[in-house]
Amino acid sequence: MTAAGANWAGNLTYSARELVAPATIDELRRVVASAPRVKALGSRHSFNRIADTDGVLVSTAALGGEPELDSEHALVRAPAGMRYGELARWLQERGWALENLASLPHISLAGAVSTGTHGSGDRNASLAEAVEAVEFVGSDGDVHRLARDDADFGGAVVALGALGVSTALELRVEPTFDVAQTVYPDAALDRVLERYDAVTAAAYSVSLFTTWQDPDRVDQIWVKDRPGRPGPGLPDELGVSPAGKPLHPLPGVSAEPCTTQGGVPGPWLARLPHFRLEFTPSAGDELQSEYLVPRTVGVAAIEVLRGLAARIAPLLQVCELRTVAADTQWLAPSSGRDSVALHFTWKPLQHEVEAFLPELESALAPFDARPHWGKLFDTTAASRLPGLYPEWARFAGLRDRLDPRRVFVNGFLEAIGL
Ligand SMILES: Cc1cc2nc3c(=O)[nH]c(=O)nc-3n(C[C@H](O)[C@H](O)[C@H](O)COP(=O)(O)OP(=O)(O)OC[C@H]3O[C@@H](n4cnc5c(N)ncnc54)[C@H](O)[C@@H]3O)c2cc1C
Repeated sequence: MTAAGANWAGNLTYSARELVAPATIDELRRVVASAPRVKALGSRHSFNRIADTDGVLVSTAALGGEPELDSEHALVRAPAGMRYGELARWLQERGWALENLASLPHISLAGAVSTGTHGSGDRNASLAEAVEAVEFVGSDGDVHRLARDDADFGGAVVALGALGVSTALELRVEPTFDVAQTVYPDAALDRVLERYDAVTAAAYSVSLFTTWQDPDRVDQIWVKDRPGRPGPGLPDELGVSPAGKPLHPLPGVSAEPCTTQGGVPGPWLARLPHFRLEFTPSAGDELQSEYLVPRTVGVAAIEVLRGLAARIAPLLQVCELRTVAADTQWLAPSSGRDSVALHFTWKPLQHEVEAFLPELESALAPFDARPHWGKLFDTTAASRLPGLYPEWARFAGLRDRLDPRRVFVNGFLEAIGL
């Protein structure tokens, strides 16, 4: 094991020769300016080598500092290494909220937005879309700031760690709100797909979970409604009823780590993630992949997964199907298109999963499926990535301008042609 240790899932060991955690911006500037290769490390929740380097790994967790709230403009400036769950608590104590959260609150702000991390909801864009400005130490060792009105901002947030080490982010906030979460078990897939638009529009955030053990059923529908702005609810034709007890997305697993269900209203931060902040899984017995397809072909893509159910199910713990609104970041998997996100929580069978991914990706290729940057995908087929992103060359140009020394390039970026 090298000094930098492993990622959260334990499926990779970072190859960095050193891991440093500067306590001041000046210290960080010296590290970046003097090292030939540097990479920022967040909370280690990515499943591939996007956060790896053969040089120096830099954690910004020790930079710390308190968030600063600008309630007049509904903005918060927060340290890049802070975890979403911690910022959420801080905001809630002051009567504020973020628009949306991912399923896990333990991920860092900068790490999550760098990979295009998202939650669910027809009108909820990726977490990066809530970012209004980003501050980072570039390869010249200087502190840069890119804000929404900068021409380069489209490349600044979902930046795959390629532009520098972020030190602070400015995020849009809104007054705190309540969410009530209800889980509906066992729906007929045909009925769901026939009225897919109505199902995903039922509430603020809707997720479908299925193990594909029965290709004709959806195991659970998680509905997160805002009582202050209620949605129409699931269509009656689904014929589903709320679960009689709390459920974990995985069949037979205790729901103890899950956020409160049963339609009980509670603050946004205690309902929007599927898992509670107090429950901290130190390591994960799972792998993940995810592909985002345009919303317009979402049903057809889900039908393709149904056709592959017998191939997918033996490797799978659970699939989650979400919706994500289009965003403006050039490299966000949801960039420029309302999307359906097809997520796979795999069993920890790396070899078998990686052997299957090319087949899965070929099946999804006709839908212009874009892989989640922080999850497992077939990087040997990366030549198709530039064709999936209209602004790919623009991002590459921005990176060349900001990082002419190629300090932040790693094996992952080289593999995808950046
Ligand atoms: C249990 C689990 C649940 C998840 N749920 C979701 C989900 O609901 N939705 C979803 O979309 N994804 C989800 N993910 C994926 C996860 O959100 C991404 O992998 C995310 O990037 C992890 O953030 P991190 O802080 O661990 O970043 P890391 O994995 O440490 O790093 C990811 C990237 O961010 C860069 N980076 C980190 N910090 C900085 C910084 N300070 N400056 C510049 N670049 C930086 C790194 O260089 C790297 O390129 C989940 C992952 C796990 C393990």
